Amino acid sequence: MRKFLFRMAQKMRAFFYGRNGFDDLAKLSLILSIIFFLIYGFLPFGILKLIFSLITYGLMGYAYFRILSKKVYKRTQENKKYLGAINMTKTRWKQRKTHKFYRCPKCKTWLRVPKGRGKITITCVKCSTKFDKRT
Ligand SMILES: [Zn+2]
Repeated sequence: MRKFLFRMAQKMRAFFYGRNGFDDLAKLSLILSIIFFLIYGFLPFGILKLIFSLITYGLMGYAYFRILSKKVYKRTQENKKYLGAINMTKTRWKQRKTHKFYRCPKCKTWLRVPKGRGKITITCVKCSTKFDKRT
């Protein structure tokens, strides 16, 4: 039995070698698919139920696609982008009373400015583009 488990573990490792594996985005789509599946269970038969089942399968498929993908670099970049967006949202939420966040119209960098200063000209730290905003 132990030998069997050991061999299974080895096979699993060989299977996942060179694959992306379970990352944050895969986790998110799996959690979302479970939520959609639970809602699906409560829906009466009809077009809405069909839509929810399609979303559930779509999200599940996307999670498996990520876990099994061999384009690890590309998947890692996507995951980083997702984590960056999460962090940005957290920061914005924490500083919502003291700061405002604007995106540079040219290079799309997020810029943080203090709140309550009236109309100001913001200069992008990355590309020096100037634009006016009310804070
Ligand atoms: Zn810029």
